[in-house]
Amino acid sequence: MHFDYSQQAFALASTLMPGGVNSPVRAFQSVGGTPLFINHAKGDKVTDIDGNTFIDYVCSWGPGILGHAHPQVIQAVQKACVDGLTFGAPTRKESTLAQLVQQCYPAIEKLRLVNSGTEACMSAIRAARGYTHRDYIIKCIGCYHGHSDGLLVKAGSGLLTQAVADSDGVPSGYTKTTLLAPYNDEKAIQQLFETYPNQIAAVIIEPVAANMGVVPPKPGYLQFLRDITKTYDSILIFDEVITGFRLALGGASEYFGITPDMATFGKIVGGGMPLAAYGGKKEIMDVISPVGSVYQAGTLSGNPIATTAGIETLQILMKDPDIYDRIDYKTAQLAQAYKEKGYTVNRVGSLMSVFFTDQEVVDYASAKTSDTQQFAHYFHIMLDHGIYVAPSQFEAMFISDAHDQKDIEKTIQIIQTYL
Ligand code: PMP
Repeated sequence: MHFDYSQQAFALASTLMPGGVNSPVRAFQSVGGTPLFINHAKGDKVTDIDGNTFIDYVCSWGPGILGHAHPQVIQAVQKACVDGLTFGAPTRKESTLAQLVQQCYPAIEKLRLVNSGTEACMSAIRAARGYTHRDYIIKCIGCYHGHSDGLLVKAGSGLLTQAVADSDGVPSGYTKTTLLAPYNDEKAIQQLFETYPNQIAAVIIEPVAANMGVVPPKPGYLQFLRDITKTYDSILIFDEVITGFRLALGGASEYFGITPDMATFGKIVGGGMPLAAYGGKKEIMDVISPVGSVYQAGTLSGNPIATTAGIETLQILMKDPDIYDRIDYKTAQLAQAYKEKGYTVNRVGSLMSVFFTDQEVVDYASAKTSDTQQFAHYFHIMLDHGIYVAPSQFEAMFISDAHDQKDIEKTIQIIQTYL
């Protein structure tokens, strides 16, 4: 396998963009080597510009639950393009998508469409603060909620591999109202509420953490968060950017049977296009402008092409909910193969991470015990054998409906033979 064209493309890109990429983890910084420059993708495979084809377990970091270039989604998008790319005025498609989200996720009484998970989380927090007239929020160490200033505190994902706990360029004032607790630590949350009674607007949480590798909530943890936020009249926000429409149609909320006050979505909800959403109880969402006094806007928000891709994707999922059993089963098979090799595996549904540590991984501190050099070695073994997993320890492996049994078995064989 050679990567000559990717290397050339990366050399040029590096002169034009920081690190040659438009999002840090893509740069292969923590595993070394040259990022694959993708030419096209179909089903469960991506093909790079050198003509190498890989079974893809990145799935664009989550959106690709149906696999790449699903014919129904592509056809609808092509048709929508002919009618115009953007109007900056309402379309009926926005309401169609909103209704589908509502049907899947009953906690969403009203929502706003935005363009990225970052925007969704930033805006949800602004709404929560505006509604409660409180300033503080709680986030968990190792959870990532996008790159808005106030949330870049002990965030996960690319920030973990680069050992940048906080980002330069964020004035300390922006993060003063962000309180931190270790994931899965009920006492820490309890203490924060006792220290700041009547001051905490919201707790924002990844209901399954997936940006320090996959870390499931301990039994009872999400219920504890539900109860304590209710007690202190604080808002519980589930960041379902990864888990939404992936663990179940109703995301982690349905999967664990916990109803948050607000939720954020990205990735799958846009069917592979730049679209995200935030929403929740009607009375909270009605603080948003022009009804209320909390400002939030977007030129391309609810864009008709992205909205079309989202609608088609959700409709496919809703017509065939057995997808969730299928992707769960395939992921379980892969998890078993890794476990048999002695690796630590965390899995919830079709989200999974393999850790190179003897410890149980329950939070950021235990995730950090994973040997990232060993991860880099593993990553390249997989790549050399035609398997593309996320180029970072602190990301999830995504399994889609397009991963067929033959490719799952091929992956298992490579795990058994080469790891
Ligand atoms: N929340 C979570 C849980 C995420 O995983 C991500 C991105 N991976 C975001 C928010 C931010 O989304 P985006 O990259 O679309 O801004």
